[in-house]
Amino acid sequence: MASEKLNMIEQFKNLDILKVDRRTFLKAVAALGATSFVSMYGTQLADALAAFPQTKVLWLHGAECTGCSESALNAANPEFAEALSNLNVSLEYHETLLAPQGIFVDGKLVGTSDLNGEILLDELVKAGGYVLVVEGSIGNGPDGTGKINMIGTHTFKSIYEKCAKNAAAIIALGTCATYGGITVTDCDTKKYCDFMGVNQTEDKKGGMNAVLGISNKPVINLPGCPAHPDWFFLTVAAVILGKINLNDLSGILDDDGRPKVFYPPNNTLHDNCPRRGFYDRGVLDERFAEGGCLWKVGCKAPYVHADCALRKWNNGTSLCMQAGGPCIACVEPIFPNGSMPYFTERESAGVLFGINIGTVAALAIGAAVVAAGVHAVRRVNKEK
Ligand code: SF4
Ligand code: SF4
Repeated sequence: MASEKLNMIEQFKNLDILKVDRRTFLKAVAALGATSFVSMYGTQLADALAAFPQTKVLWLHGAECTGCSESALNAANPEFAEALSNLNVSLEYHETLLAPQGIFVDGKLVGTSDLNGEILLDELVKAGGYVLVVEGSIGNGPDGTGKINMIGTHTFKSIYEKCAKNAAAIIALGTCATYGGITVTDCDTKKYCDFMGVNQTEDKKGGMNAVLGISNKPVINLPGCPAHPDWFFLTVAAVILGKINLNDLSGILDDDGRPKVFYPPNNTLHDNCPRRGFYDRGVLDERFAEGGCLWKVGCKAPYVHADCALRKWNNGTSLCMQAGGPCIACVEPIFPNGSMPYFTERESAGVLFGINIGTVAALAIGAAVVAAGVHAVRRVNKEK
């Protein structure tokens, strides 16, 4: 894997990244990760960004755990504040980060009361020209009132509506904001709460934007529970540098609104898993911590489209399967319902993500690979 990365670095070494076409830019972004990307092109980026006006970001929190903010704060090389500064981004509003900074931020009152935050937000919305980052789903229940999801005296639905309508673009960050995520987990109160993603809820297109009649905003989905900091910062960089045309996102997003460079439609996580050799040889663990492939203890990676296995987490240190945990498909639209039970082999479950496993297999990884996988599983079972 290390040599694969070195080859990529060699391949992109002498590029003037700002002059290359969008496809090559996105390829470099996907292949290198934020750390290598910024260290390789830092000077070029700094020069280019000096000519750009500051990009304003408004970051809202709906129904969520703030894990995606924490994930962004875990970014390394560059760190969160450094990345914003490198990208000439001004984080104008973020409820969990701005509040502790004191009474004044840039001369405006914030954090002293709900009201001050509200005044600040209204001023920013009125001025317009910002990228809206939405973290968390948006409550529509009960009965379309949105009152299940209040911030101060306002529904989050109404706060989202005013911010979304005046935004230049919307980034839905994390699986709650993109598809509902953990807030749409099947339970007795799911219908009553009616949580929604920005543009989609589970596998149903539309989301809160359809309810509010917002149809003309560019929306980029960056799912993940949480989302990877690289996915966020590199998307923001590509937007700011004009490498993503907000008026035409069709070529770069997949059917679920995700950038194909980070969530490749033609590859699965399983392709590059560090445990893949065990899978191919049929060394399938029956219990955790046996050191082999995690398929039989519930790994969903053969059905998942994300580059976690190449990019890895915590500054390129590890990823779920490497650390011994099966992939639970946290980037897919119908996480978590479709990937439960988490620790049960999927072939034995018969259905995955709500549809027949054969259909998913053909769509997601190709019949040949599934056949090989099923064969490996069956072979081991037979031998026992
Ligand atoms: S099934 Fe999971 S643990 Fe096994 S090789 Fe594939 S991705 Fe890795
Ligand atoms: S490996 Fe799977 S569960 Fe882990 S972060 Fe990636 S998509 Fe999510």
